[in-house]
Amino acid sequence: MTGAQDAPRPSRRAPRSRPLAPALHATIAVHAAAPAACLAACLAAPNLLPWIGAALLANHGVLTAAGMWPRSTLLGPNMRRLRPEAAARAELALTFDDGPDPAVTPHVLDMLDRAGARASFFCIGTAARAHPTLLRQIVSRGHRVENHSFTHPNWFACLGPAGLRRQIGDAQAALADITGTAPAFFRAPMGLRNPLLDPVLAETSLRFTSWTRRAMDGLRGDPGRAYRRLTRGLAAGDILLMHDGRCARSPSGAPVVLEILPRLLLALQHAGLKAVSLPPGCAGPGASVVQGAALSADAVPAPSPSAQHACE
Ligand SMILES: [Zn+2]
Repeated sequence: MTGAQDAPRPSRRAPRSRPLAPALHATIAVHAAAPAACLAACLAAPNLLPWIGAALLANHGVLTAAGMWPRSTLLGPNMRRLRPEAAARAELALTFDDGPDPAVTPHVLDMLDRAGARASFFCIGTAARAHPTLLRQIVSRGHRVENHSFTHPNWFACLGPAGLRRQIGDAQAALADITGTAPAFFRAPMGLRNPLLDPVLAETSLRFTSWTRRAMDGLRGDPGRAYRRLTRGLAAGDILLMHDGRCARSPSGAPVVLEILPRLLLALQHAGLKAVSLPPGCAGPGASVVQGAALSADAVPAPSPSAQHACE
């Protein structure tokens, strides 16, 4: 088995598999024009200099705000719901972040089995390395494992391109190594990102995803509130986020996810909704090599025509 640390690092970046978001193009244009605009203002109209500075500050302010809004699409593509075709089939995606955790994940798997439900597990690379058998169990029981960074740093949104490539690439290598299948989706730690993330993801076939509604069960030990957050306005096509790792505990001491999941699965059943994992065909067909990891293009399943229609 080849570990993330042992994987040969590509000498140059893989080409982008898709164009950058318009807001990033606009930012590049604003910054490229700024020096010439400043020079011209100095020579001809010094009173314009504060306005140029204000424009640059406003640009940074908008990008920072977008990065702190996990469901924003300003910084690049962001899958927040399944596609209408999936919703028409009454499908809804369950996702679990921050695992695997041997104290919680096996119980989640048992609950999903009993309900005949499928889910996507956004795993942390280091946790996966610590519990590889559990990771393989997730896959062998019909679920998918996706990329949630290698160490889940709180400062993920402050990383530069090299740090982002290491976090994403090392996790991709570790998860693919253990399960034999490369993740197709990436979710940022805490959903926070910066404008440099999309250009890094554009070099891969990973697709960025957030959620439709989240339980906040990694932060608050209130199962009733978490359940209401997930089920208020619940609809086919939703992507729900819970945590099987780093879980908050309820007043009884139990992980919140284990208190709300049985109720949620029952509610889905009563509503005629089918819990599925995120369809891997939603990921782009481009290169799957990220600097900091070496994955062959065949490691990412090619999108099937039906799967392409299953995501937003
Ligand atoms: Zn997380």
